[in-house]
Amino acid sequence: MTFRLALIAHDMKKDLMVAWALKHREQLKKCTITATGTTGTKIMAACPELTIQLVKSGPLGGDQQIGAMIATGDIDGLVFFVDPLSPHPHDVDVKALTRLALVYDIPMACNQSTADLVVAGYQSTQD
Ligand code: PGA
Repeated sequence: MTFRLALIAHDMKKDLMVAWALKHREQLKKCTITATGTTGTKIMAACPELTIQLVKSGPLGGDQQIGAMIATGDIDGLVFFVDPLSPHPHDVDVKALTRLALVYDIPMACNQSTADLVVAGYQSTQD
């Protein structure tokens, strides 16, 4: 079964997410990817070969949609580039998503170096 990965980035981290996706595009091609609206749209513009299921934008409920998918066992890993320097109206959603990743014990990477390790770990299971 393919690795089902969710991708989310706060506004100030979207360029970083696009760069990260470009760096790992070969591995990401092997994953089933779900992303919040704006994040996913930007990644697809940079990596048109990737098929990404889009949910709503994070502040409009997209984070919660991904949380529900974690709860139903439909997400195996989460990369969420959180911006620690700006306030967000949907901060509670971020907390809820973090909590669900802990409850269901899925890998959750909140910065680039951890996300690199998640992809490397997935890759090593494929070799
Ligand atoms: P977005 O949502 O990708 O639609 O901007 C991300 C977020 O801020 O949670």
